[in-house]
Amino acid sequence: MSNTPTPTSPTTFDAQRIRADFPILRLTVAGKPLVYLDNAASSQMPQAVIDRLVRYQTFEHANIHRAVHYLSETATAAYEAARVTLQRFINAAEAREVIFTSGTTEGINLVAHGWGRQNIKAGDEIILSVLEHHSNIVPWQMLAAEKGATIRVVPMNDAGELRLDAYEALFNDRTRLVGVGHVSNALGSIHPVKQMIAFAHAHGVPVLVDGAQAAPHLAVDVQDLDCDFYAFSGHKLCGPTGIGILYGRAALLEAMQPFKGGGDMIHTVTFEKTTYAPIPNKFEAGTPPIAAAIGLAAAVDYLTGIGMAAIAAHEHDLLLDATEQLGALPGVRLIGTAQSKAAVLSFVVQGIHPHDVGTLLNQEGVAVRTGHHCAQPLMKRLGVVATSRASFAFYNTHADVDALVAGVRTVQKVFA
Ligand SMILES: *Cc1c(COP(=O)(O)O)cnc(C)c1O
Repeated sequence: MSNTPTPTSPTTFDAQRIRADFPILRLTVAGKPLVYLDNAASSQMPQAVIDRLVRYQTFEHANIHRAVHYLSETATAAYEAARVTLQRFINAAEAREVIFTSGTTEGINLVAHGWGRQNIKAGDEIILSVLEHHSNIVPWQMLAAEKGATIRVVPMNDAGELRLDAYEALFNDRTRLVGVGHVSNALGSIHPVKQMIAFAHAHGVPVLVDGAQAAPHLAVDVQDLDCDFYAFSGHKLCGPTGIGILYGRAALLEAMQPFKGGGDMIHTVTFEKTTYAPIPNKFEAGTPPIAAAIGLAAAVDYLTGIGMAAIAAHEHDLLLDATEQLGALPGVRLIGTAQSKAAVLSFVVQGIHPHDVGTLLNQEGVAVRTGHHCAQPLMKRLGVVATSRASFAFYNTHADVDALVAGVRTVQKVFA
């Protein structure tokens, strides 16, 4: 009996031990310990990821796919192994459904160009939501302008939840695509994407999910969601910048046009005609960010080592604590109160501009984001120009929540 493993539960989640893996969290800012609450913009890298990048740069660096020498084979093997790690992370059916991109933005642009230009015609309609990040608005607007198509927008209620009745009412025989965020970066709302995808599919409409804020915080299963495309970024997932993935259903990717032309994405080239390589290479023209892809896989290994369920549970604890404490402060209004939320807390402090809130919190060592969070249509809907946003990661603690709340009180005193 003594070798029966002890089941882990959220209550055994050891944030202090985890924090020790993140050297940057030892920094002091303005003479105070850093309280990093800007994880929705970029999360920090654990030592394991930094070490993996150093090992690659020190002992494994070469260009991939093109040579038979030792280093090129080593780099190619690591790069392709990274693809398999990402495939498993999102439970894609095949590794070739994972395209390495520079991030969410490039992934969405790839679909807009590679799929959209072939499939969207004049008079067609694309459904987006009012909570989308600019990355999931502007590429579609550019496409719509080029083709004479129309963008239709799913509204939300005052809590920041999408109105499914209104979503369903937007469908008609001109609807060609749905693009929706899984989790809102500005408010944290978790959208019922599985249900939305099922409805779209019943109307023969494919769905792209912007997973930039979901992949770091929830267990994502693209087969269970049944989405057609899913994009996210490495730098929000404890990985490096300059890397992300686009998941696409194999049949869709195979039928799509490449977005970028160049080396490594071809089968044969003559001046008369070029034939393309099979997926995923067709979409990875030129030398890819090899080091970053390998670093992203190390980040995924690190996260899955902790467990996405444990991460989600701990972050939810922090969200409840922060919501209760900050919500109880007179003069503080929480923006975004969806039932189902990731650990993002947007707020405004009465009489104080969000930029001043952010600047003064920085003097307390507390890093939050202020502004429109790349979601200007959403800010307009909320009737605010900007908010302050605290966004939590699994390495944050209840002490970080306390520091945020104390910081906001200090800001209020300065302005009193
Ligand atoms: C950050 C973010 C993006 C853009 O990601 P990049 O890494 O800048 O390409 C898109 N959508 C959402 C919801 C985001 O949070």
